Amino acid sequence: MKIGVLALQGAFIEHVKMFEKLGQKAVEIRLPRQLKGLDGLLIPGGESTTMMNLMQSFDLIEPIKKLAGDQVAIWGTCAGLICVAQKVSNPDSTQMETLGLMNITVMRNAFGRQVDSFETGLQIAGLPDGPFPGVFIRAPYIEKVGRGVEVLARLADGEIVAARQGKMLATSFHPELTDDSRFHGYFLEICRS
Ligand code: GLN
Repeated sequence: MKIGVLALQGAFIEHVKMFEKLGQKAVEIRLPRQLKGLDGLLIPGGESTTMMNLMQSFDLIEPIKKLAGDQVAIWGTCAGLICVAQKVSNPDSTQMETLGLMNITVMRNAFGRQVDSFETGLQIAGLPDGPFPGVFIRAPYIEKVGRGVEVLARLADGEIVAARQGKMLATSFHPELTDDSRFHGYFLEICRS
């Protein structure tokens, strides 16, 4: 299998290491030609506006949309979740261009400034063996899901923080910053399917 991690900005190295821990090599993606033959693409956390600008500069937007159309698995974490969303509902971001791959509306920087970051155990649908350590860093949450989207996890007060639509995954949190490789394993299963 060929797995790519978008490596324009943000927490990409940690994802590469996590895939390696699972015995899966991952290629750092910076140019459109590197997308060729991928079975899965990960869009990491970082800063979504910067990442979208860089995708634009490197002519990656259309090729990534095409991958999704070709049923290649795509997973966005945190800022990556914002990039894959069809709508961003934070007032400052309404004009923000995204890849628009998943039928979800995302609230950016949803947990405010004071409580920027926190960690909490999450029950995730389809992930056995107990709660998953959710690391949230200036995280977005999913405000609304549309047709075809399955909710995988919520916070205790109901906010949606993980979802799946076909072969596409989105998480508000950062599994690559934990020792728990179950979510990366789950993504690789989707890539294989
Ligand atoms: N706050 C960032 C954004 O809006 C996301 C933060 C992250 O990826 N950890 O793009």
